[in-house]
Amino acid sequence: MKIYFNKNKENIIKILKKEIKGIEIIDKIEYLEVKKFKKGYISNFIPKINAVEGVIKIETELNEIVPIICSNNFYFKKPFNSLEKFIIAGPCVINDFEEFEKTILKLLNLNIKIIRSPLFKPRSSPYAWEGFGIEGITKLLFLKKRYKFISVMEILDVRILDKVNEVCDIIQIGARNMRNYVLLKEAAKTHKITLLKRHPYSTLKEFLLSAEYLAKYGSKKIILCERGDSFSDGTPSINLNIIMEIKKNFKIPIIADVSHSAKKSKKVIDFALKSYKIADGIMIEVMENPKRSPIDTSQVIGIEEFKELLAKLK
Ligand code: PEP
Ligand code: MN
Repeated sequence: MKIYFNKNKENIIKILKKEIKGIEIIDKIEYLEVKKFKKGYISNFIPKINAVEGVIKIETELNEIVPIICSNNFYFKKPFNSLEKFIIAGPCVINDFEEFEKTILKLLNLNIKIIRSPLFKPRSSPYAWEGFGIEGITKLLFLKKRYKFISVMEILDVRILDKVNEVCDIIQIGARNMRNYVLLKEAAKTHKITLLKRHPYSTLKEFLLSAEYLAKYGSKKIILCERGDSFSDGTPSINLNIIMEIKKNFKIPIIADVSHSAKKSKKVIDFALKSYKIADGIMIEVMENPKRSPIDTSQVIGIEEFKELLAKLK
């Protein structure tokens, strides 16, 4: 950690020593270099040090802020090998179980085993349909036992975690909930694989801080997911730089959600091709009959288009 100052150096050093036990301070003339503090917990002191007269700026290294994310390996080999490129596909929401079954069959035929199986949808309007909810659990469980796919499901509410234990293999924390720290902690405690989406406009550091919550509270298997920023006019967007940064510096699988980022089915293929090259995989909304999707209708692609995409990815 570097503390830049323009006056009161002695007083800053005195306060640092008093506040943070056992630290080492090296005077580098333009700044003070601070070492030997408990990583992560330094966040408890930063606001106070920032307020000391003379301090102009504090710079921290990522490993001082998110130590577990920086040092651990979150790739996994079961129930699928996250070290090999993978694809998560399926509907935006399960809107009809018969149709969902047809989609599952087609996807399994194409060797896609990780299937979006959303029963709970966060909606901007309180009047909008929120998915089948817990009422859909029995039917989903039946299909899951029959076809043995790996299910990915967004969970919005900690009270649901117990109820979905059998039907949900991968807990998705949606973009809106990236900063729902209560949900992050409880999801982590289940020890299931957790797929964390980046909230639009969040920085790499904010994204990693949320991942650090998962890691600190028990997640060993994490998937990060970039899904782009969100513009009111629906402009497509994906932050490929964040994907590259994460691939380069961390041992956490990072995928691209090419549907919520492309926002239009016409653009999905293009987004998929460019993201698949650099990421560990992609998530994509695919269903038997995209026009019937009650949510994100214009971005879901059909099986034929998906087949064409798979051919191009080979
Ligand atoms: C989703 O993947 O179903 C979803 C709602 O996406 P996001 O949280 O990225 O908006
Ligand atoms: Mn969607």
